[in-house]
Amino acid sequence: MVLFQCGSGSYFLTARFDQTMSGTKGLGLFLVPASWNGQKNLYSIRRLKDKLGTRSMATGEIDFNGAYAFAVGRVEEGIHIVMDNVLHLSRLFNSFCVLGMARRAYTISRAYAQHRQTFSHPIIQYPLVMENLARIKVENSAMIAAMCATASRQDQYDVGESTDDNSKLLLRLLVNMMKYLTALWSVKHIHHALDVLAGNGTIETFSSLPRLLRDCIICENWEGTHNLLRAQILKDILKYDIEQIYLTFMQTELATLKKYSLHTQAIQVELDKLKSELTQFRQQSSLLQQLQIRQIVDKMAILYCALTFLLEAIDQQKSKKITTKLDGYQYFCLLHLEQQELKYDDDYLELITRIVS
Ligand SMILES: Cc1cc2nc3c(=O)[nH]c(=O)nc-3n(C[C@H](O)[C@H](O)[C@H](O)COP(=O)(O)OP(=O)(O)OC[C@H]3O[C@@H](n4cnc5c(N)ncnc54)[C@H](O)[C@@H]3O)c2cc1C
Repeated sequence: MVLFQCGSGSYFLTARFDQTMSGTKGLGLFLVPASWNGQKNLYSIRRLKDKLGTRSMATGEIDFNGAYAFAVGRVEEGIHIVMDNVLHLSRLFNSFCVLGMARRAYTISRAYAQHRQTFSHPIIQYPLVMENLARIKVENSAMIAAMCATASRQDQYDVGESTDDNSKLLLRLLVNMMKYLTALWSVKHIHHALDVLAGNGTIETFSSLPRLLRDCIICENWEGTHNLLRAQILKDILKYDIEQIYLTFMQTELATLKKYSLHTQAIQVELDKLKSELTQFRQQSSLLQQLQIRQIVDKMAILYCALTFLLEAIDQQKSKKITTKLDGYQYFCLLHLEQQELKYDDDYLELITRIVS
């Protein structure tokens, strides 16, 4: 049984409605009010669990014995309703949640680096500290761009502006791959933000960084582990050719940016490579596909981040006549898209200085 707290004193839970049906097919979705006719509903808390993070939100074992519940939709459809509504949306929320945690960690570590002096200089002036901060900021900003674009597509879908099957499948892919990347990278970002505070970073009473790190690790495992999300995407590739929907979408978006070919070139080159990798991927054995799907999803997610970050950067340049996001996009490409080795020269130093200043 799976339980989701949905606020307002009620719970969504899946429960087996037919004992003869095994697997997810026999699961219905139910809404369980915490109280019924002014009295506590018929459930009891067995015990609470002592967990690594998100401690302010209780996790525990609950027995439901004759509790009143409302079936949500047709019981036979339970698992689909959960996947399409509850899990899909909570994966989207999870991404914003971890990005917020990592942004907060960045803000704390940058402020600390401006004030903390070692060898007579604020540590933010040391290139390696600057580089660490620049990377966190840029990767976090690129993922925020990707999530805002995804949320906007979700809005369009929800108000009925785009309701075809491909829009739904594309949204599912974007949400699954971004849930995975945002959680994976945000844990790393908070960890590296904590490194900036060094000894102080480890002290629970000095800043919220230790708590943010623990909370973020929980969010990594919430709403689907990394492998589960990769496996879901693999299943969707094999069943719905979802990678073709993704490639068409990326290519259509890039076509709208013809004027900016100088900036889109890095994305186009990598997208073309991904296209041929996907063709080879299709011919692999099932076990190899399960192994290689990690690299494929990484590339798809990174390219989507790059594209949406570039769209934001162009928008910022047009409306505000500033290029801070373009700097960020350029650095993101250097880190993840450009094939040649990073050159640690004056241009590089100037770029990371502008990003963290
Ligand atoms: C604090 C907290 C609260 C939670 N609350 C809820 C909740 O309210 N409702 C809810 O439904 N769930 C909840 N979860 C459960 C969470 O979604 C599960 O942890 C998650 O589904 C993983 O299941 P599991 O722990 O059984 O791991 P397992 O399925 O045992 O996985 C163990 C490892 O094996 C890997 N693995 C498993 N299968 C495969 C595969 N096919 N291919 C490759 N690798 C694989 C996993 O990725 C993982 O690394 C909560 C989790 C936490 C940490």
